[in-house]
Amino acid sequence: MLMEQASNERKRMTQMRRTRKKRRLPRLLLPLIVLAFAGWVVIVRPFAPHAERNALASDASRPAGGAPSETVAAVEKPPATANVPKPPLAPVKVYYNGLAKDGKQVALTFDDGPDGVATPKILDILKANHIKATFFIVGKQAKAHPDMVRRIVKEGHAIGNHSWSHPDFGSLSTQDAKKQIEDTQDEIEAIAGVRPTLFRPPYGALNDDKKAAVRDLDMAIVDWSVDTRDWAGTTPPNILKLVNKELYPGGIILQHCAGEQEHLSNTIAALKQLIPALRKQGYAFVTVPKLLHLPDSQS
Ligand SMILES: [Zn+2]
Repeated sequence: MLMEQASNERKRMTQMRRTRKKRRLPRLLLPLIVLAFAGWVVIVRPFAPHAERNALASDASRPAGGAPSETVAAVEKPPATANVPKPPLAPVKVYYNGLAKDGKQVALTFDDGPDGVATPKILDILKANHIKATFFIVGKQAKAHPDMVRRIVKEGHAIGNHSWSHPDFGSLSTQDAKKQIEDTQDEIEAIAGVRPTLFRPPYGALNDDKKAAVRDLDMAIVDWSVDTRDWAGTTPPNILKLVNKELYPGGIILQHCAGEQEHLSNTIAALKQLIPALRKQGYAFVTVPKLLHLPDSQS
């Protein structure tokens, strides 16, 4: 019994010594940590932030064009947000028709003129019927027939821009495409005092770069909803059938006012029948700017 007690006592003493040793360890570690921290504050810390401040100071005082040091370049690195790509521009709208909710409206459009043969005949028919239409004019044709441009405006029709020389815009640089449009704008404005708000690309097609160029010129791109294919010699009854089939309220009808005379005689004959036929259906004839709620001319 005594032996057992003595043995237990030894075990207890050994355990107490071990615990004391364990307690002594933190007591030794603490001053070491304090010393290490004090050393960092006194010796290391002053250098790090100063290096950054010096770099900024030298950046501010660096003369323009001076070669940046490596440190400065590192500081100048733009924030991550600067690398985020800009959102794409909204797609450029191409108008094919007006709004059906505006009622039974239709816009007659005549491209490629003016000329001295078909254009005056078309103007006579429109005048006799008290109809305002829209003429998408080619710049060099305007230059050749300025009186016709003035007559179109005087009789209350709208004018759109249809390029200077009717090239396929797909084969032009954006710069050349812009020049085709701007030269025509200038010519029309010089002749008739209006600067069109509408552009219709020759053959109706434009890639995105050129669409953006038209938007930069503050113009609307206008195609059509009904192509009479009058330029291809479609007969007057077929033009009427085609319009009957494809026209709906807000529609824009494509015809021509310059080109081969034989073909345009069909255009003229068809127009004389088309006007009463559409009136009978309840259609009102409006210009494209009116149909699309756009101004007639750029201010
Ligand atoms: Zn054309």
